[in-house]
Amino acid sequence: MRTIIHIDMDCFYAAIEVRDHPELIGKPVGVGGSSGRGVLTTANYEARKFGCRSAMPVFMAKQLCPELVLMPVRFEVYREVSSQVRAIFARYTELVEPLSLDEAYLDVSHRAESGSALATEIRRRICEETGLTASAGIAPNKMLAKIASDWNKPNGQLEIRPEDVDGFMKGLRVERLQGVGKKGRDELKQIGVETCAELQGFSKLELAERFGKWGLELYERCRGRDEREVKFERVRKSLSKERTFRENIGDLDWLRDVMRQLRLEVEEEVLAKSMLGVKSRVVKLKFEDFTQTTAEKAGCLMDEESYNELLNLAWSRGGGKSVRLLGVGVKFGGNDEQLGLGV
Ligand SMILES: [Mg+2]
Repeated sequence: MRTIIHIDMDCFYAAIEVRDHPELIGKPVGVGGSSGRGVLTTANYEARKFGCRSAMPVFMAKQLCPELVLMPVRFEVYREVSSQVRAIFARYTELVEPLSLDEAYLDVSHRAESGSALATEIRRRICEETGLTASAGIAPNKMLAKIASDWNKPNGQLEIRPEDVDGFMKGLRVERLQGVGKKGRDELKQIGVETCAELQGFSKLELAERFGKWGLELYERCRGRDEREVKFERVRKSLSKERTFRENIGDLDWLRDVMRQLRLEVEEEVLAKSMLGVKSRVVKLKFEDFTQTTAEKAGCLMDEESYNELLNLAWSRGGGKSVRLLGVGVKFGGNDEQLGLGV
């Protein structure tokens, strides 16, 4: 039996803006395009009371709530906080699957503590270290954990124990199930189904005939079943690309060209896997006599200038020796500890 925790930060972007601008406490705040044509990415609870929602055009939000304070998006800051939060997760389990900057599944089946106790502790740590609140769902699978984290929002949690699943599902409305959107809800309504209990009245065959593959999924989901595993990557401390030359290279300009290519490859992988928490940049050279040197510079920008500086530094240490291997990379970290974030 698995124990999965789904953690979801409470109106993440807006909460960060309020944290960083205390004069906004208690006011309706939205984050998003400041021009009349933009859309809201997030609204805090004060703004939601007026009906403001994420993805809503700004002009509409302003109509609903003329007092709405609109803050520009600061992705750099949100990313930074996200990496702080993921560092906290990494203290409890390596099995973390981020869904976005502010949401993740944690598999804590192997931990001695109860899922509930862990979730409480993780939320407390998040609050202490970032000044932000999070909500959590604890359940035997991903689908239920995600439903549960939404239940006592904001700043709350709900555990669905294995023995609670049947009872919990019976009372659940079908639109709470993953994979049932507005359209799905309407389709189910046409066959007289609004709750999972009613959906459970249909056989697998009936659902498959009516809805195809989706019907088979519904059959499992309305019973609270979900076998999907938490997808994670090993804790990653660094990422680098290397090139060994067939003939030793004694030309700095040439090395610079190769480095540019390697740097782009590293950057691409960091972005593709949305790895967070780049702590420093690294250039490694191995010389003709097999001695090697590593130049490292703190910072998270993978810009050409920084890497050129590092290459110059490493190159100068060789005192004119030619180079047989060039390595280019980044190290991950933060908060005095190694973060995984290879995600
Ligand atoms: Mg959230």
